[in-house]
Amino acid sequence: MVKFLDLKKVTAKYADEIHEAVLRTVDSGWYLQGEENACFEKNYAKYIGSEYCIGCANGLDSLIWIFRAYIEMGVMQPGDEVIVPANTYIASILAITENGLKPVLVEPDMKTLQIDDRLIEEAVTERTRAILIVHLYGRCAYTEKIGEICRRHSLKLVEDNAQAHGCLYKGRRTGSIGDAAGHSFYPGKNLGAFGDAGAVTTDDKELAETVRALANYGSSKKYVFKYTGRNSRLDEIQAAILNVKLSHLDEDINIRKDIAGKYIREIDNPHVILPEVTDRDGFVFHLFPVLCEYRDALQAHLADNGIQTVIHYPIPPHKQECYKEWNSLHLPVTEMIHDRELSLPISPVMTEEETDEVIRAVNSFRP
Ligand SMILES: *Cc1c(COP(=O)(O)O)cnc(C)c1O
Repeated sequence: MVKFLDLKKVTAKYADEIHEAVLRTVDSGWYLQGEENACFEKNYAKYIGSEYCIGCANGLDSLIWIFRAYIEMGVMQPGDEVIVPANTYIASILAITENGLKPVLVEPDMKTLQIDDRLIEEAVTERTRAILIVHLYGRCAYTEKIGEICRRHSLKLVEDNAQAHGCLYKGRRTGSIGDAAGHSFYPGKNLGAFGDAGAVTTDDKELAETVRALANYGSSKKYVFKYTGRNSRLDEIQAAILNVKLSHLDEDINIRKDIAGKYIREIDNPHVILPEVTDRDGFVFHLFPVLCEYRDALQAHLADNGIQTVIHYPIPPHKQECYKEWNSLHLPVTEMIHDRELSLPISPVMTEEETDEVIRAVNSFRP
């Protein structure tokens, strides 16, 4: 049986260090806004290559706070438009609509599964204020063309880096390429906490201060409230765990890349389209997405062979009940991806035997 993701094994790998970090925090008597947080924020900012890091409650909040901060700073106002890939996870879109901003859905490129930069320009209007790129599956979505469009139209570039910690673009980490980035440390992510956790990174001091205040009831001075914020903080135990896991992140990513490399070399089935990788640095394989016209049959075949897989994602945002106004939109590329995508198991604790088992089972699939 090959599990899609064995979190118990992932934790066991660094159990001693994690236990020490948790006990140290428990024994310290200090559980919020303390040294563990400060230490993680410093380490993570350095890792990403950003001036500032602000820990917060989860990845969705990290994105919500970035847009809310831009509104508080007068950079955007409700009703303004944000360009976003149509095939993203719902959280990217929720962060936009939560702030009364309008998502403008742009189709992805079938080859990279990332926002198609050839379609962005025509989506820009007078109300466009930002592009939210999503490094989906752990692959860098940034291109020179996107940067150039942002500069030409004075748009903010926001990154959803929830799936791509450690990913590089020309030597720079995703999360430091745009004006601000949201990060998720949901347990299953490449850098995962033991519960919900997230962070914002940016080089913009005003944005950093505004986000920090918003996530702390709207206050940067005790009992003085500048904004109607919320309580959305990263707690000390999660920060202590993240500090341990961050120190092993690159090691874990390398294992993911090796497994992906083996899949790409050895999976050979005309019905299964593998991700094309041109740049080893630019894909950290949070997921290993394949496309198959007979996706459901492939998933059933793999299940029969003891292999767990997951679909990312079965229903695109524009077909969700919560966004009824878009239900009649026709986005053929996005819809095709949602019909055909299947994620194979990949994780830093998968053994070579398990990888071989997956390869054999995929190769033996016949529709
Ligand atoms: C996980 C995820 C989020 C949300 O992060 P949470 O910590 O679960 O709130 C946002 N965007 C993408 C692309 C994600 O994968």
